[in-house]
Amino acid sequence: MISVSLEGTMSKTTEQFRAEYAAIRARSEAPTASDFDRAVRLYFTDNNLPENPPPALWVKVAAVVRFRCGRCAGTGAFITYVENGQPRGPGGICFRCEGKGMQDDGDVMRNLVHDRHYMSRAC
Ligand SMILES: [Zn+2]
Repeated sequence: MISVSLEGTMSKTTEQFRAEYAAIRARSEAPTASDFDRAVRLYFTDNNLPENPPPALWVKVAAVVRFRCGRCAGTGAFITYVENGQPRGPGGICFRCEGKGMQDDGDVMRNLVHDRHYMSRAC
């Protein structure tokens, strides 16, 4: 359950919130934008949040909804290859989702930072 306190968010405009939401949605592991929106709406319903949430709350929920990890196909295990549709690997936990099988925006951001770091080292 997230905190619904919107303190400190009042200085942002609706446009800024929309842009933030769209950025989180674009980098998420959700298969499509509508899958992402559906998950956010479901989160509102499941947690008895307001019917017409303010823009700041959309952004907060966007950051915590989780989607199946594309690296490990939701298994949480490190995979090196797929054989007859079954993921195979040496074991250990998936480094993209840290073994959860799901990624929220925190995981996505951690992976982006990691990718940028290693990309810049490779150049
Ligand atoms: Zn994973």
